[in-house]
Amino acid sequence: MYGYGGNILRVNLTDGTMAKEPTAPDVVRDYLGGRGLGAYLLYTEVPRGADPLGPENKLFISTGPLSGTMFPGAGKMDFTTKSPLTGGYASASMGGMLTAELKYAGYDAIIIEGASEKPVYLYVEDGRVELRDASAYWGKGSFTVERQLKEELGEEFQIATIGPAGENLVRYACINHDFGRQAGRGGVGTVMGAKKLKAIAVHGTGEVPIAEPAEFTRICGEMIRACKEAEAHEAWVKYGTMMVTEWCNENGALPTRNFQAGAFEQGPNIYAHVQREKLVVTDKGCFACPSPCGKYSYSKKHDIHVEGPEYETNGMIGSNCGLGDIEDIAKANYLCDELGLDTISAGGCIAWAMECYEKGLLTREQTDGLDLRWGNAEAIFALIERIARREGWLGDLLAEGVRRAARVMGQGSDAFAIEVKGMEQSAYDTHNATSMLLAYMTCDVGAHHNRAWAITYDIAVGRDKVTPEKAAKVIELQHIRPLMDCLGCCRLQWVELGVSLDYYAPALWALTGVERSWDDLLHISERVWNLTRMYWVREVEGFGREWDAPPPRFVSEPATAGPTQGQFTPPEVAQQMLDYYYEQRGWDRNGIPTPETLERLGLAWVK
Ligand code: SF4
Repeated sequence: MYGYGGNILRVNLTDGTMAKEPTAPDVVRDYLGGRGLGAYLLYTEVPRGADPLGPENKLFISTGPLSGTMFPGAGKMDFTTKSPLTGGYASASMGGMLTAELKYAGYDAIIIEGASEKPVYLYVEDGRVELRDASAYWGKGSFTVERQLKEELGEEFQIATIGPAGENLVRYACINHDFGRQAGRGGVGTVMGAKKLKAIAVHGTGEVPIAEPAEFTRICGEMIRACKEAEAHEAWVKYGTMMVTEWCNENGALPTRNFQAGAFEQGPNIYAHVQREKLVVTDKGCFACPSPCGKYSYSKKHDIHVEGPEYETNGMIGSNCGLGDIEDIAKANYLCDELGLDTISAGGCIAWAMECYEKGLLTREQTDGLDLRWGNAEAIFALIERIARREGWLGDLLAEGVRRAARVMGQGSDAFAIEVKGMEQSAYDTHNATSMLLAYMTCDVGAHHNRAWAITYDIAVGRDKVTPEKAAKVIELQHIRPLMDCLGCCRLQWVELGVSLDYYAPALWALTGVERSWDDLLHISERVWNLTRMYWVREVEGFGREWDAPPPRFVSEPATAGPTQGQFTPPEVAQQMLDYYYEQRGWDRNGIPTPETLERLGLAWVK
C-alpha cells in the first residue's frame, strides 16, 4: 500500500486493550484517508444514537496519503467524532508535525474507543504502544503539558493535548499541538476529556513508501517552486491569514459586535501590519510547508508568547467582541489555547453574552460582577477562564455553546445566537453575501467557513445575486477544499498562492501507484460529503431543511454599519439558494440525498 502506513491502531480505554489492524485497501480506495477515512469509520463504527460524551462514541485520528511526504503542506490530519456541540458530524483538521510522526510510526489512523476511569495519555513509539498515567498532567494547560511531556519523553515526540476546557466537558473544547496548532471545531477536545485521555505522544522512525519516488520528487519540487515564486508568497509569509482582516473590514465582512455589522471602526488597530510590527517574533509553519503562515508572537503588554492571532481569532474575539487592541486579542488567544477552547466558538459565545448584557437581558448579578460591555478586555479574559472551568452560572451556561445558552436565557436571545446546526458561525459577516451564507447553512459540521470560502466569489459576481451558479460554486468548493483534508495536505497553497490544482492527481498517482483523475478525486469528495449528510440524517431525529436554516439576524436585521449598512438577505432568498443547492446536489426538497444520488456515489444507509 504505497502512500500509507498500512496499519490502524485501535485503543480501547475501557479495558486498556490495543490492537494493530491492517488499513483496508478498499476503504482507502473509496475514501482516500484523513477526513474521508474518519467519516467512513464514524458512520460504520459508532452505533446510532451514541451519546457524544459516552464510551460508545469514538475519536478517529486520521492521516491522509500525502501526510508526512515532501508534498507542499503535507502536515495535515483530521479528528472525527460525534459532536458534543451539535449532536452530528464533527471533523476538525489540524496542521503541525503530528501527522508525519504518526505515518512514520506506521499508522494511518488511531481509533480511540471506550473511556478510561483515570486520566491517561497514549504513548506511541513505532510498534511500542502504551497507556500511561496522566494524573500529574490533569488540570494543567495545553502549553504546559506539551512542554512537560517533551521534557519527559524527548523533543522528537509530537504531542496533542487537551486543556482544562476539555476535561470540564466544555462543548467546544479543542485539541492543541505544536504550541499553537489546533483541531478546533465541534468539541473534538471535549470527547478526549470525556474519555479521560489527556494527551497523545507519538514518535516514529519509519518512512512513507512511495510507488514512483523519482516522479513524486519531481512533482513536489515543481510545486514547491510554484509556491515560492507565487506573486502572493511574500505577503502570505509575512502576514498569514491576518491579511484577511483589512479586506473583510473594507468589504463589510468583518464580524462586529456579535455580527450586528460587518465593519469595525477600530479595525485598523488590528490589521496584519500592526500585528507584524507589535507582536511577531518569527514565522512558523507546518510540516513540509514552503509558505509558513503561522506567526509566533510575543506581547510585551501581557508578557505572553502565543502562535497567532490568526484571522478567525482576530475576528471572533477581537471585532466581534468590540475589542480593538491587538495585544489584548493576543492574550485572549493565549488563554483559549492554554485552556483548550476553540477561539471561534468562544468568541461567538462571549459576543452573544455581551449583546445580552447590552440589551439588559443579563444582569451584573448573573455575570458575577463582570462588566460585559463591548471591548472590555479584562471581562473577556475573566470570562474565558470561567467558561473553561465552568465557573459561575454564566461560565457554565456559555460552556454549553450559544444555541443551548439561548434556550436557557430565553427573552428572544435566540434571534441573535449566530449559529447553524448548533455551531457558532466563524468570522465572515453574511448580511449580504448569498454564496457565503449558503456555505454556512450547508456546511457539514455547522457554521464553519473552511469547506467553502465563497465570500470573494460573492464580491466578484455581485453579493446579493441569487443564481444557480452561486450554489454550484459553493458545491464546487465543498468538494475541492475537503478533498485536501482527505489527502492529508493543506489547501492554502491553492487558495492563497494560486498554485495549480493540476499537481494533485499526478502526485497522488506517483505516491500510491494508483491512477486517478482529478474528477475521480472530486467524486470521492462528493461521496464523503454525502456520507456525512447521511450521518446527520441518521443521528438527528427530524433532520432536514430546518437544520440548514440561516442565523435569523442575517435574514431579518439590517447591518448597522460599514459597506453593507442597511442590508440583509430576505428569507425567501436564502430559501431559494437552498433550493438551487439541493437540486444540484441530488437531494430532495428536505435536503435528504435521493436513492439515485446514493446509488451514483456507491453509498448505502447503515442503520
Ligand atoms: Fe500550515 Fe500555513 Fe503552511 Fe498551510 S500554509 S501548511 S496552515 S503553515
